[in-house]
Amino acid sequence: MRLLLVEDDDRVASALSAVLGKHGFDVRHARSGGEAIQALLPDGGPEYDCVLLDLGLPDQDGFEVCSRIRRRSATPVIMVTARSDVRSRIHGLNLGADDYVVKPYDIGELLARIHAVVRRPPLRPGAAQSAGPATPPGGSPMVTLPGADGAAPMTLGAVVIEPSTRQVTVDGRPVALTRKEFDLLALLAQRPGVVFRREQIISEVWRTAWEGTGRTLEVHVASLRAKLRTPAMIETVRGVGYRLVVPAG
Ligand code: CA
Repeated sequence: MRLLLVEDDDRVASALSAVLGKHGFDVRHARSGGEAIQALLPDGGPEYDCVLLDLGLPDQDGFEVCSRIRRRSATPVIMVTARSDVRSRIHGLNLGADDYVVKPYDIGELLARIHAVVRRPPLRPGAAQSAGPATPPGGSPMVTLPGADGAAPMTLGAVVIEPSTRQVTVDGRPVALTRKEFDLLALLAQRPGVVFRREQIISEVWRTAWEGTGRTLEVHVASLRAKLRTPAMIETVRGVGYRLVVPAG
């Protein structure tokens, strides 16, 4: 798997390159936004499976680099940054980043996220305009948990999700969810705190493109909130999508 690491700090870059190399990645290091854009030009060299993009770069802001990458390439972009505020995350996702990882991060988590964006069918802003249903290649599983084959139960406050049996309990009591409600919850629960874009949710849960689903997603979110009896757990991020908020304690 080929990876473009955009990072101006050489020490960070070489440490990360070494770890990623051990995990089978072929890493190229770009020290600036300009170098990254250059590397992603059609004649700039080989194609990359994923870009890890630091936001604090010497020549231009990482957000600007992300939108420039997006204009010319569908390569998945994971923003890697110390900026942990929600507005930065939302801004990054709006610019077309596929994921957003906050420093300091666990290397295992970073690897899981890289694998998640690489195996996800590409979702581009332009995909919303494409005609007909978007069928992801290979019929990949609807919900995949990094490294767990979907087997490990997920505990989110009072809510426990059992992916292997598709059972959900709240305070130990089973809750009857529809197929799509379960898929929606399991998808959001893969990465608590991370905003999932509407298009992404519709594509992964309904296996269809943006149009024609009307208010289906909103309706499912509303019924899921009611059934889980913790409406605040699924947070609406206005104009973007939804994210799962794990109750404290
Ligand atoms: Ca930096």
